[in-house]
Amino acid sequence: MRIILFGPPGAGKGTHAQILSRKWQVPHLAAGDLLRSHIRELTEVGKKVKAILERGELVPDVLINELIAVELRKPVARRGFILDGYPRTLGQADALDEFLKGKNENLDVALYFKTSVDVVIDRLTGRRFCPECGANYHIRNIPPKVSGKCDRCGASLVERSDDRPETVRRRLEVYEKDTAPLLNYYQVKGFLEEVPGDFDVDELQAVLAKVLERHGVRESIR
Ligand code: AMP
Repeated sequence: MRIILFGPPGAGKGTHAQILSRKWQVPHLAAGDLLRSHIRELTEVGKKVKAILERGELVPDVLINELIAVELRKPVARRGFILDGYPRTLGQADALDEFLKGKNENLDVALYFKTSVDVVIDRLTGRRFCPECGANYHIRNIPPKVSGKCDRCGASLVERSDDRPETVRRRLEVYEKDTAPLLNYYQVKGFLEEVPGDFDVDELQAVLAKVLERHGVRESIR
């Protein structure tokens, strides 16, 4: 399976990508998680992008294109991938196309999580995240088993600094300007599937299962 997930922040991309990744045993490549791990580990890339993430802006295409290409070249991605939050600009979409063309591969489907603003705001303000393993939670919709602790690794959950209201506003503006044009891009290519991002997790998983089946998504060759 080779799929991409896009939609506004808070659409549920990360949550659904994690579930699909476990189900299909293909890597979940989340551009935001990659960048946050560089920031945590104080790498050169991390130092370059920290302030950009805090402002809710996008990092330069060349930088994220290279980080994602490195992940896609890893043997584990031969079985397929779930790209979450990448591509986020037309330039990144072109770069991904070129990359896949070079490997004689195609996307199966581009899933657009259509989500209303009220739902986005509610999800982002209730979102908690594990700084150790990247798992996502929501204080009401996806609570951890033990309050404030990650189910997977037991680390203390935190709020993302870019989920503050003023940064959320900026991220939504950036989304409309830079990422929303991908809708037309993938529609023209015939890969686009719109799914209801407002649905709760189980409802949307059921929709996704049908969509993937319709697109003939299968486990990629090992
Ligand atoms: P996310 O975890 O997907 O909400 O991403 C968090 C932040 O990481 C975004 O607000 C951007 O600053 C940055 N980021 C994530 N993905 C990309 C991308 N594909 N291109 C540029 N910046 C990105």
